[in-house]
Amino acid sequence: MIVADRKKIPQIRDMVKNHRRVLLVGCGTCVTVCLAGGEREVGILGSALRMALRLQHHDVVVDECTIERQCEDAFIDILAQRAPEYDAICSLGCGAGVQALAERFSNIAVYPGLNTQFMGILESQGVWTEKCSGCGNCLLGEFAGICPITRCAKHLLNGPCGGSRGGKCEVNANIDCGWQLIHDRAGKLGILDPFEQIVPPHDWSTGLDGGPRKVVREDQCIAGLGPKS
Ligand code: SF4
Ligand code: SF4
Repeated sequence: MIVADRKKIPQIRDMVKNHRRVLLVGCGTCVTVCLAGGEREVGILGSALRMALRLQHHDVVVDECTIERQCEDAFIDILAQRAPEYDAICSLGCGAGVQALAERFSNIAVYPGLNTQFMGILESQGVWTEKCSGCGNCLLGEFAGICPITRCAKHLLNGPCGGSRGGKCEVNANIDCGWQLIHDRAGKLGILDPFEQIVPPHDWSTGLDGGPRKVVREDQCIAGLGPKS
């Protein structure tokens, strides 16, 4: 899932304080699961934000709603009637959701209420960890199911580096060395042999450095309604 956490109340207050009517919009998918931007969090933020604005004598109406997914126009449709009543939207979706709302409502200011962090998993109650950097050319099959790009602080494909100590990363002693994890798991699976060879450089052309990426599934496109350029 996409993991995010909420911006501090004063930061959100300062973004919206010069508006008259603000709609807080939650998202019912990833950010609900990571407890950052679902219906419950919208309610909590709404109460805290109203109070923070009032304490500074800002006369701003703050209303709340949550839609199923902010990153799909079909779900944003639900806001089509209501959104024009506001001069600002504060999204509690991920960065994709914020931008989808901004594209849809070009005359309304749209602000991010969350800081989008990473793609990851729930490690334990209240703890999420990053697992994938979305490189566009997945190598998990060659690295025992553990991502060297994300889990190694130096993104090494030929690790470990010389700084791995006691299974921990030299960059941060609180995180496991990704390469220790890869070696341990590969050893258990009996697939250590390939790690004797030098892995050639990764093809980064599929990554973010080439600009925003696009996935087009021709078989799913409707004739005459092709992808937006
Ligand atoms: S190799 Fe790329 S796609 Fe696969 S988990 Fe790592 S970053 Fe994600
Ligand atoms: S200690 Fe391990 S995880 Fe940290 S940079 Fe070196 S190889 Fe990567």
